Amino acid sequence: MTNDKKLVQCEFGCGVNVYYQTVEFSDSLEIPIPREADDSIHNCPNLDRDELPDVFTPITDDQDLIDEFCQNADYLWNKEEIEKHYLDLDSYFAGIDGLEFKNYRDDFKKFLVKQLGIIPSFYSDITLYGSGDTLPGCLNDDMEAPPGYGIFPPIGLLGTFYEMDGNLPDAKKCYKIQLEMSSSPNFWSNKFEEVNVQCEMKEQEPLTKKYVEKESKKPQTDQQTENSKVEEELKKMFLEIRKFENGDFQEYISSKISRNELKEKLKKDILRYRFVIEKQTGKKQRVPYTMYDKIKTYHAKDENRKQIRKNQTDWDYLSLGEKISFLDDKIRNKEIKKLLDEINDIRNSLSHSGDYYPDAWLEVFADTRLCIKKCKDFFEFDVKSDIKRI
Ligand SMILES: [Zn+2]
Repeated sequence: MTNDKKLVQCEFGCGVNVYYQTVEFSDSLEIPIPREADDSIHNCPNLDRDELPDVFTPITDDQDLIDEFCQNADYLWNKEEIEKHYLDLDSYFAGIDGLEFKNYRDDFKKFLVKQLGIIPSFYSDITLYGSGDTLPGCLNDDMEAPPGYGIFPPIGLLGTFYEMDGNLPDAKKCYKIQLEMSSSPNFWSNKFEEVNVQCEMKEQEPLTKKYVEKESKKPQTDQQTENSKVEEELKKMFLEIRKFENGDFQEYISSKISRNELKEKLKKDILRYRFVIEKQTGKKQRVPYTMYDKIKTYHAKDENRKQIRKNQTDWDYLSLGEKISFLDDKIRNKEIKKLLDEINDIRNSLSHSGDYYPDAWLEVFADTRLCIKKCKDFFEFDVKSDIKRI
């Protein structure tokens, strides 16, 4: 724990003193967790969804307590806002699909972290259900929930998303926190143990691998030729996706979103909140970090580094995934959105390190090429019908 305990009255007016511990994840998402003096995670009675109070200031005759609360409170909560928080969570996780794709899950994670950062409703379960009554298996293993439904405590859900990503250290972090506040410790302690064992195995993997490699050091020319052939194919695929991204896709997206509209969107799109815990007072301050801030950060770095690309526009600073998300309300065709996400998935997996299955690429790349072609055809058709409409 990095924060020294600076106790302040709970911002929701329950009268309990808390301090904030910020938990950081490897993808730079972070959550401030309110803990009480004994380090337990604060279960605020004023955030009990079924019994929300009418006012979020301490109900007491102790004037000192009220004065202290008012002095510390940057913000006075009202019932409607808390209700809206729960409704937002409900509606965001209702009728979802695409959770098997990492890009979709990233959006869900960001949303969840954003909501919990604002209102720490760690003790209120979230119900999610898939469109068409299906959810990926690991979200549907709750025996109490009907098929297609999943009921999760928020941090447990976040951990499950990380686990689905294969990001075990972050999943482990979440499960550990969940264990602290779970009423059904068995389920989450099993989850924690499972991930923990996997993490340990992963740590030992490189050692085993090195040993095996050493053992089979005889010349493998056939294998080497095969490997370099695969490498060639991977590079080719990556370049094709880049060509699509910088060509047809860029043209299409520019025809759909003007420069000004883009700027507006960038400023509105809050990627996450940064939570600054004031050293002196222990107060939690929320600082929004927008896509526009992110680009500004890149621009600032540009001045200090060697340039290899010229005439960078705001678009060039966005990842393919971010650009795709800008089209969310522009493309009504869900199929195309899915295809774009698939292309992005492959692009991401190609640009990251790790070994590949030697036989999988042929089929996957044929699929990816088909996705690109379908998207190109759709772009052409859509732009033409736009022109017709004018
Ligand atoms: Zn409280």
